[in-house]
Amino acid sequence: MTYMNSPAMKTLLRFGLVADLQYANIEDAYNWNKTKKRYYRSAIGLLGKAMEDWKQNDAKFILQLGDLVDGFCKRTEEPIDCLNRILDIFDKEQWPTLNVVGNHELYNFEKNSLYKSRLFKNLPPSNKAYYTLSPYQGLKVCVLNTYEISVLGELEGTSPYDKAQSFLAERNPNKDTNDPSGLESVDRRFVRFNGAVSKEQLEWLSKELTLATKEKENVIVVGHNPIYLPATDSACLCWNYSEILNILSENCVVCYISGHDHDGGYSVDQNGIHHITMPGAIEHPDSYAVGNLLEDSLVIQGRGDMFEVNCPLRFKLKC
Ligand SMILES: [Zn+2]
Repeated sequence: MTYMNSPAMKTLLRFGLVADLQYANIEDAYNWNKTKKRYYRSAIGLLGKAMEDWKQNDAKFILQLGDLVDGFCKRTEEPIDCLNRILDIFDKEQWPTLNVVGNHELYNFEKNSLYKSRLFKNLPPSNKAYYTLSPYQGLKVCVLNTYEISVLGELEGTSPYDKAQSFLAERNPNKDTNDPSGLESVDRRFVRFNGAVSKEQLEWLSKELTLATKEKENVIVVGHNPIYLPATDSACLCWNYSEILNILSENCVVCYISGHDHDGGYSVDQNGIHHITMPGAIEHPDSYAVGNLLEDSLVIQGRGDMFEVNCPLRFKLKC
C-alpha cells in the first residue's frame, strides 16, 4: 500500500528533499565512463518545479543533500556566481534549507571558505557544517559532514591535506586515486572523491543521539555519502562508514538519507534503520521527493525516478 492510497492519516509536517543537482551553466555531457548523460543546466528548471510542488505541499524545510553545483561550473564562470544563482532559487521561499557538503562543493571552494559561505550562513563561523534542526516536537534532523576529513578542499602542503593524502595513498595504490581499480568490495571506497567524519564529529553525533533517545525524539540522519553497502555502490561509501553505523545503532534513528551515488539505492539494516540513497538529479531529471511525517511513520514520496519509502517511527508523535 502506498502513502497515496493508504487510509487517511493526519500528516503533521512535510518537507522537501533533493540530491546531486550539480548545476553548471554548461552543455549536457556524458559522465567520465560515457555511460550516463548529465543534464547540467536542467537543475534550474527542476528546482523551480520541485519548489512549486514543495510549496503546494506546505513544506516546512528542505534537505539539500550536497553536490548542489558541479565541479565543471568554473569552465564558464566564477563558482561563487554559479552557487549564488542556484541559492537565489531556494531563497525565493522562507523555508530553512539544510545544506550538506558534497565533493563537488570542494572542487569549487576551499573547505574553510565553504563553511563560511552562503550555504551555511545560518551556522556560527566556527561550525564545520555538521549541525541539527528540530522541526517538530519529537523529530530531530542531524546533518553530517562526510568530507570533514578529505583531500578535497584542502590546500596542498597543509597538514589536513597531507594527512588525508597519506591515508588514501596507504589504501589505494593507483596513480589516480579517483580510480578504485584493483580494490575489492568496501575497499573501493578509498578514493579521492570520498571523505570521512572526524573523531570530534562522531562524538558530537553520539551525544546528540543519546540525548534524543532520552527525550524520545525520532532522528533523521543525513550526509552526502551513503554508509550502508546494500544501499549503494561500494565506491560511494564514506571512508569511516562503519564508525558512523556503530553510533547509529542508538534506537532513536529512523533513517539515514544520502546522495552521491546517482543510481540511488535502498535497504534496511539489522537495527531497523532505513538507508535511503536518493537518485542524483543530474542524471535523473525531475527526481526529488516530499517527506511526510505522520503520527507513527515517515513516508518519503518520490517524484521522477525517486522511489517511495515508508519508515516506521521509533517514538509515536503527539498530533
Ligand atoms: Zn557526490
